[in-house]
Amino acid sequence: MTFKTIIEPFRIKAVEPIRMTTREQRQRLLDDAGRNPFLLRADDVLIDLLTDSGTGAMSAEQWAGIMRGDESYAGANSYYRFAAAVEDIFGFHHALPTHQGRAAERILFSTMCKPGDVVPNNTHFDTTRANIEYVGAAAVDLPIPEGLSPSASHPFKGNMDVDALRRLIARHGREKIPLVMLTVTNNSGGGQPVSMANIKAVRAVCGEAHIPLYIDACRFAENCWFIHEREPGYADAAIIDIARELFSYADGCTMSAKKDGLVNIGGFLATNDDALAKQEAALLILTEGFPTYGGLAGRDLEAMAIGLREVLEPDYLRYRIASTAYFGRHLTDIGYPIVQPPGGHAIYVDAAALLPHIPARSFPGQALLGELYLTGGIRAVEIGSVMFGKTDETSGEETTASMELVRLAIPRRVYTQSHVDYCIEVMADVYKRRSSIAGLRIVSQAPPLRHFTARFAPVEYTGSLTSLRESGS
Ligand SMILES: *Cc1c(COP(=O)(O)O)cnc(C)c1O
Repeated sequence: MTFKTIIEPFRIKAVEPIRMTTREQRQRLLDDAGRNPFLLRADDVLIDLLTDSGTGAMSAEQWAGIMRGDESYAGANSYYRFAAAVEDIFGFHHALPTHQGRAAERILFSTMCKPGDVVPNNTHFDTTRANIEYVGAAAVDLPIPEGLSPSASHPFKGNMDVDALRRLIARHGREKIPLVMLTVTNNSGGGQPVSMANIKAVRAVCGEAHIPLYIDACRFAENCWFIHEREPGYADAAIIDIARELFSYADGCTMSAKKDGLVNIGGFLATNDDALAKQEAALLILTEGFPTYGGLAGRDLEAMAIGLREVLEPDYLRYRIASTAYFGRHLTDIGYPIVQPPGGHAIYVDAAALLPHIPARSFPGQALLGELYLTGGIRAVEIGSVMFGKTDETSGEETTASMELVRLAIPRRVYTQSHVDYCIEVMADVYKRRSSIAGLRIVSQAPPLRHFTARFAPVEYTGSLTSLRESGS
């Protein structure tokens, strides 16, 4: 007998209290924060869906590992346990620990790229793109067309457009392309998985052109679970074997262990290229630390070694992906337009479609964030014109983004089903009142990365019909 309820596959040993607040209190707190949830204190948030990065809960085994951590400067046991886990799962014999993913990216691109180079990816994450551009190279996104349409359904919407990759190589020549990257799952594209077939096809193109393939591995376990569930031929394969096959097609990877490493801080850069690893280790020493700790404490390496194995447990992944899908299914039933199908780590609401009365220049995503917080103390993040847009300094006109999304990211092993049910109830209430949600204008901002600090106020209506139309009501 199998039961349909998928339970959280853990018991809770330590608890963190959630401080309850009233709507009136939240109204004051949100006003004080300039309607920007980044400026709220975490204590004033009931359910924090700002990010899944570094916000997960560690297991009893990981906490035991923290105690076992070897803090020797060089050659610590914890490093060897970490390196053995990386070699066993990912198959790379050089593993350079870094404090988080972006440090691995900086070292990789400073070593492999030069000005004028081009680095393709299914979709670059923002720190990946920034680190490529920092060394003077161009970051090019080559998602399949379905990946750009929120409502289009496809089992592997994170795939790379292989023909577009071929054309890119033909156009620039392989000398200009020091590496190709694949991000699994595709975070910026909605947490969508990449199929093994696509990874193999990309590998084949890279092989012909003699270009190394690197994986941005942040959510590798979630991607492997989707392959297990959706790709013919993998239903009976062990998750760890799917991971081993996936990385066998790659020459190296970057990893933010704050995601599928199940730790609060840490990352690594891995490769099988001996000469490259030497150069990378030299840079690591310069800014991160000696190669057997790389800016982390021994205990962090210990927790990472354990987390990388725990994340591959089928019961964990089944619960993880089912709880994201459950959240997505209920929001869809309410009427929310979301990126379909739900990805691994988050639900993305299409705020432009939900709030058609708010034009992009009045930030529908940011307006929705405020309403989620006021109604139920839920914190989420805008991925739209606040994050990617710009205000023209002379005209005051807004450049807007191509999509107005709100991301509800789900921390790992932190919230239970009743927390998710609460979020669904809050969002059902917000949905009923959606046509009365007002747009926002920016009161102050500090570009670049203005979304972290900008302050907002509701768009003011003067009462005349033209200004109402102007403000999109
Ligand atoms: C989080 C993330 C990174 C960067 O990792 P940090 O640990 O935040 O520096 C890179 N790529 C992807 C896909 C990510 O999700």
